[in-house]
Amino acid sequence: FNVPIAVNEPVKSYAPGSPEREAVLKAYKEMINTTIDVPMYINGKDVTTGNTRTMSPPHDHKHVVGTYHLAEKKHVDEAIATALEARKTWANTPWEQRAAIFLKAAELIAGPYRAKINAATMIAQSKTIHQAEIDSACELIDFLRFNVQYMTDIYHDQPESTSDAWNRLEYRPLEGFTYAVTPFNFTAIAGNLPSCMAMMGNVVVWKPSDSQIYSAKVVMDVFKEAGVPDGVINVVFGDPVMITDTVLDSPDFSGLHFTGSTFIFKELWKKIGNNIHNYKTYPKIVGETGGKDFIVAHKTANPKQVATAIVRGAFEFQGQKCSAASRAYISESIWDQVKDYVIEDVKSFKMGSPEDMSNFFTAVIHEGSFDKLAKYIDQAKADDNVEVIAGGNYDKSKGYFIEPTVLLTTDPKYTTMQEELFGPVITIYVFKDDQFSETLELVDGTSEYALTGAILAQDRYAIVEATKALQNCAGNFYINDKPTGAVVGQQPFGGARSSGTNDKAGSALNLLRWVSPRMIKETF
Ligand code: GLU
Repeated sequence: FNVPIAVNEPVKSYAPGSPEREAVLKAYKEMINTTIDVPMYINGKDVTTGNTRTMSPPHDHKHVVGTYHLAEKKHVDEAIATALEARKTWANTPWEQRAAIFLKAAELIAGPYRAKINAATMIAQSKTIHQAEIDSACELIDFLRFNVQYMTDIYHDQPESTSDAWNRLEYRPLEGFTYAVTPFNFTAIAGNLPSCMAMMGNVVVWKPSDSQIYSAKVVMDVFKEAGVPDGVINVVFGDPVMITDTVLDSPDFSGLHFTGSTFIFKELWKKIGNNIHNYKTYPKIVGETGGKDFIVAHKTANPKQVATAIVRGAFEFQGQKCSAASRAYISESIWDQVKDYVIEDVKSFKMGSPEDMSNFFTAVIHEGSFDKLAKYIDQAKADDNVEVIAGGNYDKSKGYFIEPTVLLTTDPKYTTMQEELFGPVITIYVFKDDQFSETLELVDGTSEYALTGAILAQDRYAIVEATKALQNCAGNFYINDKPTGAVVGQQPFGGARSSGTNDKAGSALNLLRWVSPRMIKETF
C-alpha cells in the first residue's frame, strides 16, 4: 500500500530574471497572441458543433483569445453513455493504476505544463502570476498528490477479522456516473472535482464555468497525457440549464461534485429531489458554495497584522475567492491605526494587466460581476451610514477594473455586511472595546454563510471566547491570520450553513463521498 509520500509543491518566486518568470511570460505572450478553438471532449475525442462563443481576458475584454463549442442535448447524452461504457473497465482498474495516472498528472503540472497552466489562468481568470502559481499550479498538484495518499489510506482502512471470519471492505465506486460542476475562480478546483471522483473509480461528466474553459482545457490536456482513459472524464460546455437537466434526468446519475453559487447549488439539489424516484441509487451531493467571510479584531490585536489580514484577505485575486474577507469588525481603540495601514497599503497597489508582474491587482471576471459590484459601490456612496475610505472607482473601458474598495459603516447589518458580493469590496464596522462578546454574537447572526473567518487578538481569553462563540459560522477558522489560502494537506477546506456540505476539499472525507462500500464477510 505504499505510495510516494505527498509533499506540498514548493511555490516558485517568479523574481525578475528567474527562469520561471521568463517561461511564464513567454507562454503568456504566445498564448495571448494566438486564438484557439476549444472543442468539447467526449469519449476521448474532440467534439465540435459549430455553435461557438468567444473567450476574452477580463483585463482586455475586446481581445479575443479563442472560441469554444456549445453542446446540444445529444452531446450530453453521448457523454453520459460514453461514461457508463468506460465505467465497465475503469471501475475494475486496479487502484495502483488510477493512482499512477493522477500522480503523473501532478508531475506534468509541476514540470512541462506549469508555465502553460499559469499563463492560461492569468489570461482566462486575470490572476496575477503569484495567485496563479499558488491557486492553480501548486494547489492542483497538491490536490492530486494528497488525494492519492488519502485514497490509499481509505483502501487500507479495513475492519477486524477473526480466524474464522475474514472481513473485507470493498470501496466500490458509485454505480452509474457522476457530475462535476466547476467555478471560474480556481483552476485547481477545476482539476480537483472531476479527479477526486475519477480517482475513486468513477466516471465523470464535467461542466466547467464558461469563464474557465480556456484554463480547464489545459487541465484536460494534462489528464489526457497522464493516461486517463477515453470516456472516464468527459467535458461539455454550454447552456447550464440544458446540460444540468439532461444529467440529472438520467436514472444513472449518482453523484454531484459542485463548487459555485449557493443559489445554483440549491436549485440542483431541488432538481435531484424532484427526480429522486427515477434514480437507481441515492445520489451523493457535495457542494462548496458562497461565503460572507469575516475578520474580527480584538482591542489587543496587532494593528499592522489586522491591516494585512484585511488587505490580503479581501483583495488578493480581486476578492473573488469564496474565502475572501468581506466584512470586518474592528475594536475602536485600534481602528485609527488599522485604518492608516489599510489606506496606505491600498494606495500602494498597482492595478492593471497580469503580464506586468508588478501589478497586485487586476480585473474582475466579467461584465455581470463588474456591474453588480459597481451598483453596490454606488449605493454605498449614496448611503449616509457608509463612508468609502479607500478605492470606490471603477472603469470597464478596457478591462473590468474595480478599485479595491473599503467601506466603513455604522450599521452592522448594512447590505454589504450580509450579502456576498464576490469582488474587491470589504465593509468595516467599528465596535466599542467593551462590546466584544456582543460583537461575536453579531458576527454569528449576520450572515447565512459559514465558510471562513478570522479572529485577531493577543489576549488568550479573547481567542478562546471567539473560537467558541464563532464555532458554527466558519468551516475554516483562522487565529491571527487572514481567512484565505487554505493549503492542501494542511487545512482541508469547506464550510457549512449556506456555504456547503462541508465535505472538506483535499481530505479523505471528500473522497469517501465517492464510494459505496461493500462489506464482505467470508467464513471458512
Ligand atoms: N481554498 C481557497 C482558500 O482557502 C478558497 C476556494 C474557493 O474560493 O472556493 O482561499
